[in-house]
Amino acid sequence: MALIVQKFGGSSVSDAEGIKRVAQRIVDTERGGNQVVVVVSAMGDTTDELLDLADQVTEQAPAREMDMLLSSGERISMALLAMAIDTLGGRAQSFTGSQAGLITDASHGRAKIVDVSPHRIKTAIERGDIAIVAGFQGQTRETNEITTMGRGGSDTTAVALAAALDADVCEIYTDVSGIYTADPRVVSSAKKLEVVSSEEMLEMAASGAKILALRSVEYARRFGVPLHVRSSFTHDTGTWVQPDPNDNIRIQQGEPLEQPIVAGVAHDRSEAKLTVIGVPDIPGKAAEIFTIIAESGINIDMIVQNISTHASARTDISFTLPTTDGDKAIKALEAAQPSVGFEEIEYDEKIGKLSLVGAGMRSNPGVTARFFDALSTAGVNIDVISTSEIRISVVTHADKLDTAVRAVHAAFGLDSEETAEVHGGTGR
Ligand code: ASP
Ligand code: MG
Repeated sequence: MALIVQKFGGSSVSDAEGIKRVAQRIVDTERGGNQVVVVVSAMGDTTDELLDLADQVTEQAPAREMDMLLSSGERISMALLAMAIDTLGGRAQSFTGSQAGLITDASHGRAKIVDVSPHRIKTAIERGDIAIVAGFQGQTRETNEITTMGRGGSDTTAVALAAALDADVCEIYTDVSGIYTADPRVVSSAKKLEVVSSEEMLEMAASGAKILALRSVEYARRFGVPLHVRSSFTHDTGTWVQPDPNDNIRIQQGEPLEQPIVAGVAHDRSEAKLTVIGVPDIPGKAAEIFTIIAESGINIDMIVQNISTHASARTDISFTLPTTDGDKAIKALEAAQPSVGFEEIEYDEKIGKLSLVGAGMRSNPGVTARFFDALSTAGVNIDVISTSEIRISVVTHADKLDTAVRAVHAAFGLDSEETAEVHGGTGR
């Protein structure tokens, strides 16, 4: 008997029909002779709607109450799913994150898992029940406060439960058939990957691919949980994310020569670019700027500093950051303008980031040249560049991003003959 953790995203349970369809799938898995633990997200766009509601009530919601609010979305779907399974003659029980033993730290809205003790889940599946767990939430240890783990956190709940229960597989059900060489919503000729290494998946998730939450990939890698990303609308095999690099048939040495150099192209529209203009070109100024940003709790991504002209002895420093942190960053820097001594701030939200990811890039010189050649042929101007061992990222104008993604995708021979299937949803 296998123990399978199945996670269903919001687009798979967006209405009553979706809940019934998913219930049938769960019951089929259980009747196939498996123990099943299910993690479910809030229905459709519920989390966004709850955020909008809070916005209409207050400008600054207390973090504790925000988590009380947001955690309710997943509770709606878990209870409805258990009811639908009951109707099909299955036996299911739903559990909140805290009942399922997900213990987190106390940072509301972005809580990190510190312990998983799924006693009640174990008991439930041992007596043959299906356990349904509300995603993306937990409870603090000392104060028993409800926390949520940040957007997309249900993926992490699923992986954490799979690790704690020593599940055979963690299946992530979504509205596309797996992990593609690019977002099929942008590149309709994107190809489904059969397998991707967790190293590549980490870079793709960090580069804006929304199919899996970054933290869930990190967690799966650390605990060796095999992930199978697949569609809840079809029965096709999806994409396996392999946690152990030694298992990775694609990047093992001596493997077939045709193994792909790149895994895919990821893009991200959620960042903005902030430029601090006229920074005195003397030691310590970059440190001052980035200390201010860090103290505001803002994660920055790419950084560039321009060469200063001799006459001015001043330089410009640009960096990218989440658009949602833009105001905070500008206010914090403006407050420090007299002490840092820069001239002005320029802020641009109309940017997009494109990343080419592939473990095979390590051993293939030529990749960088082909990448920039594709962008220039497509007439895309490049603003900022950054690289890692297995990734090249560039910032372009937002309007050029889709063109750029398609051009790079084609230049690396990733286009497939077939059109990728997308079953509604927003890709979240
Ligand atoms: N409902 C939450 C969100 O929309 C968590 C999740 O779906 O993973 O971010
Ligand atoms: Mg998700």
